[in-house]
Amino acid sequence: MEGFLKELGSIIHTRDATALRVKSADFSWFSPIMSAALGNRQAEVILSPKSEEEVVRIAAACAKHRVPLVARGGGTGNFGQAVPLAGGAVIEMTGLDRIVFDKGNVTRAQAGIRIANLDTHLRKSGRELRMHPSTKKLATLGGFIGGGHAGIGTVNWGILRDRGNLLGLRVITIEETPRALELRGDDVNLVHHAYGVNGIVTEAELPLAPAYEWLDTIVVFDDFGRAAEFGMALTTSDGILKKLVSVHAWPVPHYFVPLKPYLPMGKAAALLMIGAETREAFEALVKSFQGKVTLCVPQDNIYEYTWGHTTMHALRADRSLTHLVCIFPKVDTLGSIRRVHQKLGEEAFLHLEFKRFNGYMTAEGVPLFRYQGFEQITRLYRAFEAEGARIANVHTFLLQNGGMKDLDDKQIGFKRSVDPHLLMNPGKVAGLDDLPGGISGATLEAAQLPASGWAY
Ligand SMILES: Cc1cc2nc3c(=O)[nH]c(=O)nc-3n(C[C@H](O)[C@H](O)[C@H](O)COP(=O)(O)OP(=O)(O)OC[C@H]3O[C@@H](n4cnc5c(N)ncnc54)[C@H](O)[C@@H]3O)c2cc1C
Repeated sequence: MEGFLKELGSIIHTRDATALRVKSADFSWFSPIMSAALGNRQAEVILSPKSEEEVVRIAAACAKHRVPLVARGGGTGNFGQAVPLAGGAVIEMTGLDRIVFDKGNVTRAQAGIRIANLDTHLRKSGRELRMHPSTKKLATLGGFIGGGHAGIGTVNWGILRDRGNLLGLRVITIEETPRALELRGDDVNLVHHAYGVNGIVTEAELPLAPAYEWLDTIVVFDDFGRAAEFGMALTTSDGILKKLVSVHAWPVPHYFVPLKPYLPMGKAAALLMIGAETREAFEALVKSFQGKVTLCVPQDNIYEYTWGHTTMHALRADRSLTHLVCIFPKVDTLGSIRRVHQKLGEEAFLHLEFKRFNGYMTAEGVPLFRYQGFEQITRLYRAFEAEGARIANVHTFLLQNGGMKDLDDKQIGFKRSVDPHLLMNPGKVAGLDDLPGGISGATLEAAQLPASGWAY
């Protein structure tokens, strides 16, 4: 490590104990299983480059001194993606925050830019990102690409990996003489959702969407089944502008304390972003479903109660809760939702994000439940899958077992070519043998939970 540090020269770095603790953690505490498996693993140094040239120097020094390396954006990943399992260095990317170009309906920015800063800049000239995670204020572009998959806007544009949502990536390899690669077309998905094991992303190029005036909206319903049906009807009403369709069974709305005046006790709620231009058409749809609009205002923060934020609000109120993540089937989507709610609704409080996914409309389900152990999670996984929902296992940090990415030979070959010494984020890809001591105990047990994953 000392030889490595000497080579860093003027690159900002720290070995302060608090910084090491804070910058080695993410939101994996959403899962009690993963928290236990990760323990208190920490990096030995935090590096804060300000330019791509400094990133290249770090990559070369890591390769030369065989120092493990974990890239970090905002640290909001909740699958343990940014937790260093083998010590070494964390490279904090937030210093690379420049917009590289901004032409018409395409923008290119450095990977460390906070997504909200990029989006705010774009909206000033009538454009916006096609989608962003609910963590957009903290999350970085590179972190969203490395660890995220979808978000607000996905109801229109699909998930990040769908063709056309990510145009190009610039990636620095971890070699004694690092290379800068430009990935385009399908190759962007070699690095997307790869938990930062495939090189350091320094720039990303994205297509844009028109920026409408979005209204933060809440509609309440007596019955969750009706709310879900409304969610699907709104999602498939192509003429109505929307950016977010998020439906919650009671008691989930009960955890959204600041929204309490708009969320009557016992009611199911739809949290939405609706385009002001089509408000009347939207209201007609609400009326036909006997819903009641309790909020409809031009602001931009309702998304911070949806997607991963739903779990965060619930866990803040009750740390005994955890969640699972599933995708409902293409055929009989609403039937599958109704059946799981009917059978398991008392134990697993359902929350839905309507989305385009792999070319069709469906909903992601993120039920919250009080954690009672492996047996319970196994039973819940099986019960959801028996009703046609496919589970992505959010209680493991092993990339293959998460079920949101296929690690085929091309992926593994690419990993070995950009990181021949297997230094990037060791321990996240099973079978590579890159973690001293190997993978064991709770990690293996969590990886074996019966989740079939999301087929693409
Ligand atoms: C409350 C909450 C809500 C969330 N909502 C959503 C959501 O709506 N949609 C969604 O998809 N996810 C969501 N997530 C997960 C997470 O916020 C997103 O994945 C987010 O975009 C991660 O960005 P980040 O900058 O914080 O990444 P980090 O957590 O810092 O990193 C994520 C992964 O990417 C890698 N990485 C980071 N930067 C680079 C780089 N420059 N090059 C290579 N690899 C890199 C890291 O090593 C790590 O493996 C949520 C999480 C929380 C806690």
